[in-house]
Formats: sequence, structure tokens, C-alpha cells
Amino acid sequence: MAKKRILSGMRPTGKLHIGHYVGALENWVNLQHEYESFHLIADYHVLTTNLNTSEIYDNTIEMLIDWLASGLDPKISPMFRQSQIKEHAELFLIYSMLITSARLERNPTLKEQVRDLNIENVIYGHLGYPVLQSADILLYKGEAVPVGEDQVPHVEITREIARKFNNQYGAVFPEPEPLLTKFARLPGLDGNAKMSKSLNNTVLLSDSEEVITKKIKKAVTDPQKIRRNDPGRPEVCLIFTYHKRFNEAEVPEIETGCRSGALGCVDCKMNCVSKLNLFLEPMREKRNYYENNLDEVKDILTDGEQRAKAVAEDTMNEVHQKMNLG
Ligand code: ATP
Ligand code: MG
Repeated sequence: MAKKRILSGMRPTGKLHIGHYVGALENWVNLQHEYESFHLIADYHVLTTNLNTSEIYDNTIEMLIDWLASGLDPKISPMFRQSQIKEHAELFLIYSMLITSARLERNPTLKEQVRDLNIENVIYGHLGYPVLQSADILLYKGEAVPVGEDQVPHVEITREIARKFNNQYGAVFPEPEPLLTKFARLPGLDGNAKMSKSLNNTVLLSDSEEVITKKIKKAVTDPQKIRRNDPGRPEVCLIFTYHKRFNEAEVPEIETGCRSGALGCVDCKMNCVSKLNLFLEPMREKRNYYENNLDEVKDILTDGEQRAKAVAEDTMNEVHQKMNLG
């Protein structure tokens, strides 16, 4: 039986953080053998929140290195830029006829971004973000989309567009399902519910031991635990969430120690730093290798773009046929 297809993507906005990893990337790595995967670098999507493209290429390479350092295998799955495969823009145009603006205005992810980034006037392309994302997914007939929680409303819009197209012109597209991890929304260092580059509350996959120590030391914990021996509430503490993911074995004793007041925040944080370091060390080594072999990274992109293009062309031929265009 043919493997099911996955489309996974991220915006090249710089180096990735541990939220990206535990919310999405980890799933991509785990699923790359079980599914046929396509890994999209969503460079056009960057424009929704930043028109300055001077760093987009460097950010693309940085992100690709993070992907490779995390264990994604480019021999199995193509990695490619949205902007290099024109079919994304073409399918986006067609899809934009299949959804109402009222539906897009109701999108909770857009509302969240508008709030977090203090956007006063939403541009047309930002409103249409999920439509382009639908084209990204369905150009490769993605049946599953491994994403963090903030992206789930977009997958729902994708399903609606697929249904609308299929009803109007004939069955071409699957209705994809989101694949969530246990940590679909990792909190940030400032206590915000979401770690996010734009909120400046991240631990990067590429941060050094020193930087991580500094960042974790400053992280917000339970505001009611002021002195070392005050009892704390692990359920409101982001450091506790990090322990849950990066230090599972010690979670019960950390929880008891925090609640009773026996465990102070400083010790708890230093323990968290050492576990984060254990986890990130192998990635640092791989990152180092790719930073010193940038030609290899660029070849991975060229190869991925050729492979993705072939699939995208096939889908668009089918679309044109069903729509009597050409
Ligand atoms: P940021 O949100 O940090 O500004 P971004 O918006 O540039 O990053 P996206 O391309 O939107 O990044 O996100 C890439 C993937 O990572 C998406 O699947 C998203 O759901 C997931 N993700 C991002 N931040 C988190 C988080 N804090 N917890 C879990 N998953 C996350
Ligand atoms: Mg985001």
C-alpha cells in the first residue's frame, strides 16, 4: 500500500526554538519513515508579517540547518522553498475563489497574531494566509499535517477548500488531518502561553550552554513562590512544563518538592538547564557540521526543489483538466 502523504512547513524567520521542535519538528522526524513527507520552507508566508526580505535567504539556510540537525533526512524527503515552485501561487489564486472573506476574518490564529504583533491594519495577504497554506498542503495532496495547536484552524480551512473544489470540479484533493504532539503549545520564558520568536521569549535549538543558563535563570516561575521554601504550584510554572518534556523521569519528585517548598526555583532551574543541554548537545554537533559544509546544504535545497516541482506539476495538470483550463 502506498504511504500516506505529509506536508509540513515552517516560515524561515530565523533560527528555530524548542517550541518549534516539540510542537512540530519532532513529529516530522518521527513520521518521516512512516509517511511520504514534503518539507516546505514557507518564504512567501514571511511577508504576511514582515515585508523586509533582506534576510530571507540566510534565514532559510539557518532553518534548513536546524531541520537537518534535528534528524530530518533529505534523502527520504524533499526540502524546498515555496517561492521556487510557481504552482503554489497558481493554486492559491484558484483557492481564493473558493472561500469567503468572512470565513477568513473569523480565523482565531489571525486574531491572535494581530493582538501579539499589535497589527493595526491587516493586509490582504495576511488575511489570505490560510488560503496559501491550503495550496501548500494540497499541491502535494497532503493527507496529514504535523503542526502546533495555533495551526489547527488553518488545517480546517484547508479541508473546507478541498471539499469545495472537489464538489465543484471533481475529486482531486484529500481532506487533510492535523497531527498534534503532546506539547502542541510550549510556553515561552516570559510566561506567555506560546513560545514565539516575535515575543522574544525563546530558547533556540542553537543556543549555547551559557546562553541557555542565562535565559532560564531569568525565566518567570510561579509568582506566589517568592522565597526558596514557599510552596509552589507546578501547574502554573513554565519550567515545570519544560521538565515534563526534557526531564520526564524526575517529574514526580520535582512536583512533590515544589509543592512542599523543599525544592527552590534556582535548583529546579539549574536542573532544567542541564537537561536541556543534554538534549541539545547532539544537535549542536550536527549543526556545526552543516555550518562547515554549506555547499551540501544548498545542494539539498536544489535537489528538493526538483523533486517537489515534479509533484506540483502533476497536481496542476489534473486541476487544469478538471477545470477545463487548457
Ligand atoms: P514564531 O511563532 O516563533 O514566530 P513562526 O510563526 O515563524 O514562529 P511558524 O512557521 O508559524 O513559525 O511555526 C512553525 C511550526 O511550529 C508550526 O507548526 C507551529 O504550530 C509550531 N510552533 C510554533 N511555536 C510553537 C510553540 N510555542 N509550541 C508548539 N508549537 C509551536
Ligand atoms: Mg507562528
